[in-house]
Amino acid sequence: MALQQTRIFVANEVLFTEGEQGECAYLIERGSVQIFIKKDDGEIPLRVLGEGEIVGEMSLIENNLRSACCRAMTDGQAIIITKEQLLDRINVIDPIIKLILKAMLERLRTQNDILRNKKIPAHKPTPSIAITKEKKIALDRITLEHKIACGLEDDEFLPYYQPIYDLSKEAIVGCEALMRWHSKEQGVVSPAVFMDAMDSSPMIIRAGKMMIEKSLTDLKQLAQHVGRPESFFVSINVSGRQFGYVDFLNQLEDARNRIGVPSAQIKLELTESIMTGGPQALKVLNDCRNLGYKLAVDDFGTGFSSLQYLARMPLTDLKVDRSFIKLMREDQKSLHVVQCLIYMAKLLGLTLTAEGIETAEQLNHLKLLGIELGQGFLFAKPLPLAEFLKLNSKLIRKAA
Ligand code: C2E
Ligand code: CA
Ligand code: CA
Repeated sequence: MALQQTRIFVANEVLFTEGEQGECAYLIERGSVQIFIKKDDGEIPLRVLGEGEIVGEMSLIENNLRSACCRAMTDGQAIIITKEQLLDRINVIDPIIKLILKAMLERLRTQNDILRNKKIPAHKPTPSIAITKEKKIALDRITLEHKIACGLEDDEFLPYYQPIYDLSKEAIVGCEALMRWHSKEQGVVSPAVFMDAMDSSPMIIRAGKMMIEKSLTDLKQLAQHVGRPESFFVSINVSGRQFGYVDFLNQLEDARNRIGVPSAQIKLELTESIMTGGPQALKVLNDCRNLGYKLAVDDFGTGFSSLQYLARMPLTDLKVDRSFIKLMREDQKSLHVVQCLIYMAKLLGLTLTAEGIETAEQLNHLKLLGIELGQGFLFAKPLPLAEFLKLNSKLIRKAA
């Protein structure tokens, strides 16, 4: 990476002029600058900026020409922020925040034009293609969030259940609750469409609570149907935001006691990011475990976290990500990763579940390797409660 550059300036030096293409912004370390706009009959001062303030960022964010000039009021020095540095950050922010930011900058630019007595066209100037695309992404996101909120209000979200098999017996021993949206407009919508938007807003707390309530309520019927009233478990996905919510465990316990389900029949599927959540996360994990819940790391091996947490966190289960299961038969290295996981899980006393089993070959291979549990389209897709309750005994106990 290029070394951070500094710009030394002297009083009255012009740092940039309106109409120029902006190539960098400045973080003022020492001294002060004035922002002004030119008018036919002189200059209009807009503001004075000093130590610790940023100047010249506007045209970079907007990808537009400088809308004002900047002149040093005193001698001084500024750190140069390159276009690349700034855009790298802007590109990863939430599209809605990006839209708001751009709208604010557009308004500021319009104000400068008004001060300059420029005629503002009745219609907005045609935005560049890039801005139109960005706006569309942001507007789509706002619309989606609105629809999700309405869907939650109208109780359109519900769990589907995918059976989890004991691979050696080929019998259903539990299930994973997976959220679906029965949208009036679009029919059954999968999490691929809505989970990102839901998970980046507080709506996930409400939706997560609904998943807990509904899946615990359905647990008795599911367990009875497969003939394992006391050992059948439901796996519930818990997002990082939901897990970090102060009332998470109280709400879970409240639902469990009210509905009357033993904690041993509930497995919480957590992402690797939760494991790196520090002492607070560890405390909630310990509380959950002490209360008897099973704790699984979901999509194990796909995150960026260290393996340290495996030794420190009170885990009971690991779920091996579908990508390993898919590649394992063609790619030696993926197979070796799975073999290592099996060895490690055995030593650590963790139950392994293979996700995404799609073929009989994969199943036979996983059985040979000694993986305990598995789920996948080979057995069944996630099903609504009523469909799950129609699973025949052959599917419930495949080997029979
Ligand atoms: P996940 O937790 O890894 O769930 C497993 C996903 O794999 C599910 O996708 C399931 O339908 C799919 N799957 C199962 N077997 C197979 C197979 O054999 N082949 C293939 N190709 N896919 C298979 P789904 O239901 O679309 O859910 C996607 C993700 O959305 C979940 O991944 C989970 O991260 C998230 N999600 C779903 N429900 C909830 C929820 O209630 N709360 C939270 N926080 N996240 C959820
Ligand atoms: Ca999961
Ligand atoms: Ca998973």
